[in-house]
Amino acid sequence: MAKQMKRTSAAKVKSSARKASRPAVRKAAPKRSASPAKAGKYVYNFGRKTDGDGTMKPLLGGKGANLAEMCRIGLPVPPGFTITTDVCTYYYANKRTYPAALKAQMQAGVAALEQQTGKKFGDLKNPLLVSVRSGARDSMPGMMDTILNLGLNDQTVGALSTKTGNARFAWDCYRRFVQMYGDVVLGVQKRPDEDHEPFETVIHQLKHDRYHQDIEDTKLTVDDLKELVVRFKALVKERAGKDFPSSPWDQLMGAVGAVFGSWMNDRAIVYRRKYNIPTEWGTAVNVQAMVYGNTGDTSGSGVAFTRNPANGAKEFYGEFLINAQGEDVVAGVRTPEPVAELKKQMPKAYAELERIRQTLEKHFKDVQDFEFTIEDGIVYMLQTRNGKRTAMAALKFSIDMEKERLIDWKTAVLRNPADQLDQLLAPVFDTAEVAKAKVIATGLPAGPGAASGQIYLNADRAVTAADKGNQVLLVRIETSPEDLRGMIAAEGILTARGGVTSHAALVARQMGKVCVCGAAAVEVDYQARTVKVGGQTFKEGDWMSIDGTAGKVYAGKVKTAPSEIVAGLVEGDEAARKTEKFRNFQQLMKWCSAATRMSVRTNADTPEQTANAIAFGAVGIGLTRTEHMFFEGDRIDAMREMILAETLEARKAALAKLLPYQREDFVGIFKALNGYPATIRFLDPPLHEFLPQTREQQAELAKKIGVPADRIHARVEGLHEFNPMLGFRGCRLGIGYPEISAMQARAVFEAAAIVQKSGVKVRPEIMIPLVGFKKELDLQIDVVHQAAREVQAEKKVKLNYLVGTMIEVPRGALTADEIAGSADFFSFGTNDLTQTGLGMSRDDSGSFLGTYAELEIMPKNPFATIDQTGVGQLVEIAVAKGRRTKPDLKLGICGEHGGDPQSIQFFNRVGLDYVSCSPFRVPVARLAAAQAAIRQ
Ligand code: PEP
Ligand code: MG
Repeated sequence: MAKQMKRTSAAKVKSSARKASRPAVRKAAPKRSASPAKAGKYVYNFGRKTDGDGTMKPLLGGKGANLAEMCRIGLPVPPGFTITTDVCTYYYANKRTYPAALKAQMQAGVAALEQQTGKKFGDLKNPLLVSVRSGARDSMPGMMDTILNLGLNDQTVGALSTKTGNARFAWDCYRRFVQMYGDVVLGVQKRPDEDHEPFETVIHQLKHDRYHQDIEDTKLTVDDLKELVVRFKALVKERAGKDFPSSPWDQLMGAVGAVFGSWMNDRAIVYRRKYNIPTEWGTAVNVQAMVYGNTGDTSGSGVAFTRNPANGAKEFYGEFLINAQGEDVVAGVRTPEPVAELKKQMPKAYAELERIRQTLEKHFKDVQDFEFTIEDGIVYMLQTRNGKRTAMAALKFSIDMEKERLIDWKTAVLRNPADQLDQLLAPVFDTAEVAKAKVIATGLPAGPGAASGQIYLNADRAVTAADKGNQVLLVRIETSPEDLRGMIAAEGILTARGGVTSHAALVARQMGKVCVCGAAAVEVDYQARTVKVGGQTFKEGDWMSIDGTAGKVYAGKVKTAPSEIVAGLVEGDEAARKTEKFRNFQQLMKWCSAATRMSVRTNADTPEQTANAIAFGAVGIGLTRTEHMFFEGDRIDAMREMILAETLEARKAALAKLLPYQREDFVGIFKALNGYPATIRFLDPPLHEFLPQTREQQAELAKKIGVPADRIHARVEGLHEFNPMLGFRGCRLGIGYPEISAMQARAVFEAAAIVQKSGVKVRPEIMIPLVGFKKELDLQIDVVHQAAREVQAEKKVKLNYLVGTMIEVPRGALTADEIAGSADFFSFGTNDLTQTGLGMSRDDSGSFLGTYAELEIMPKNPFATIDQTGVGQLVEIAVAKGRRTKPDLKLGICGEHGGDPQSIQFFNRVGLDYVSCSPFRVPVARLAAAQAAIRQ
């Protein structure tokens, strides 16, 4: 039963999306621009003199543009310069080389830094050190690479030590620099068989050689740090096969090359594919004078959000580490302290940060995620960007900021990412079940929601298990960008170390994954592949559950319950309706109704599905697939009798058995709709899908309905088609067997008469599938009108109904002007229109779409997101031609694309009246439709 079982295959879309997010086999580089970037400005300064501003993200990247913007509004930013994304484009278009003018512009940039800081690059008295960081247009957390303390070598380290009078600080900077540079630029990284970074292994070894135990990094002495630098350099020599570069300019050019190079590394590609960031955007590079968070106990580094990005609360949220550089905070190696602690430890710096927090929100009018460094009590800003947030936080931010008059209601609607909204509908733990479950550890609530899964301790094994259809929980000591694929595959993520701004937390939040991090009681043993918690040992494959809203870890599998929104809307749960989440959601939906032009209907085949969709705000049915009704209970037997019938009389007799079932279904649906319209599609799939395929099943059926098994077998053989999707299906069935359509029409009208007589308004809209010729539609319309006349006369009622067609083959779209002469409405069947328009089977495309995604042949899976340039053009032609014939022709879409935000934006633009999608996608579609209207 390919059509029912396989076609509407969200699962397939999902699995190919997963496939699509594998690292590329072949990598497509950014597009070649015909001419190299114009011999112009490649370097933009910020600091005392600032060339750029916040609007220049395409050229300066998000980080560079916002550094410039912060300078402009007077925030304390160490001076620096941004190398533009044009240079990245040039770099890939010209065999990884730079424009000729770049070097001189960089030299001028460095000179400007020297002038502002009073230090000199490579100087033996007062050396200037810089950081080098990537910065794409959209932030890609953890995907690109950062190098700190660049400019140090065996000579300048001495100068730094003398100048600051702090040898420990100088050597700590140096060892960090060699470590980062060795990793990022020289590629000394974890091998597939290693569970730890090689530099971390060296540190671990040194601690054990010298102290016979793990000690805090801050306890390492100058002598330890000197020894580390020696060991690090030896590691570099051994693994990279070359000496560590000592010239600051060589270091700088190497670092810049590494940032541009990292634009095409596997994890950046995986990330871009997941978030649809075009390769050709490229990244910028930011070079900035260092400020030091590691000079001692009056210094530190932190990451903070102006509000809580996990649950949306209006509180200063973030964390810091005393005597540390920024990387320590995000890397999750040390668990930092909450930013509120700073109030006690450094009250002045805290007050300054509070001021900055207010300034940022007032200026950017959105929640900011920023990095700061405190050097000897003075706060410096290193970055700000719009904070990534969970759907729950996005909702609360938008409602609160509208109340605070920071934004207007339309902006509030736009602030909720439509493709994240279903996070709000995702299940939470069942309260009764969770009360019985045992909390075995607690950690930080980093990504809200509930997840149960079999634990896996490494990304590859997590992906393999998930590909086999298992529910997976990825458990790591801490995560790094290498774990990204495992995180995508997992239901949830649990880490033993790292704070709420650690890599795991950031990425999980953005993906909408449930995440608990920093659960210190969880002992992860990568070698043994076990997790020990509270005396209990879990092996890979054992079940654990995490609550990312409360930060709790449970042994075993815990049952989940519907979210408050679903409970409130669908189940009418009064307690759920009182929650803030529910009320905020209702406010958002109210705004959506005010903003939208298109309405949202649902694809539903039962009264229950219909009622759910209406609870979510659907205003009718856009597609009832009547064939789904033939599979329930005994109906399939009558259906089979009908197919096996050898005469018209026998067929009519079988159809007469089906009629009461259909009528009953429609009565239920009309009642559930309570006056909303119902688009009912007549029989569509090829008939072989209803017959048993194996000899045993055929023998069983033969016995049941008293037909010889051989006859059944012969009929199955006779119905065999080479391309059933292009065969005897759709309206071709009703044309071949008009009595089927007659029965379906009669069932609709009899049901309408019954419900109408009970006082409920009924608006049936009969829809004929797969029409390519006006004559096809006309023949079916005659059958429908005939049935209507009969039923109205018999039941003495007057029924209002429409008859329309699906546009789902190219000929139907191209001759829409003719077809519109007969149709009351069109509904685009974009599943089939994509299949027939692309000549690409909806059931078989899974085998090659993964490769297509890797090669970026199509930007997205065309069965999930409409191919605007191709299939979309057919839609536009049909809209224009259809309305030319009939200006008030009602237009909708009922393919799977009706629930996809990006496709919905397209359908709004081309002027459809409604989209129709499955019940649980109705809120997403309402939001996307409202946003499309606001943007237009
Ligand atoms: C379609 O083709 O888009 C459609 C809605 O019909 P079905 O998926 O049932 O073929
Ligand atoms: Mg179809």
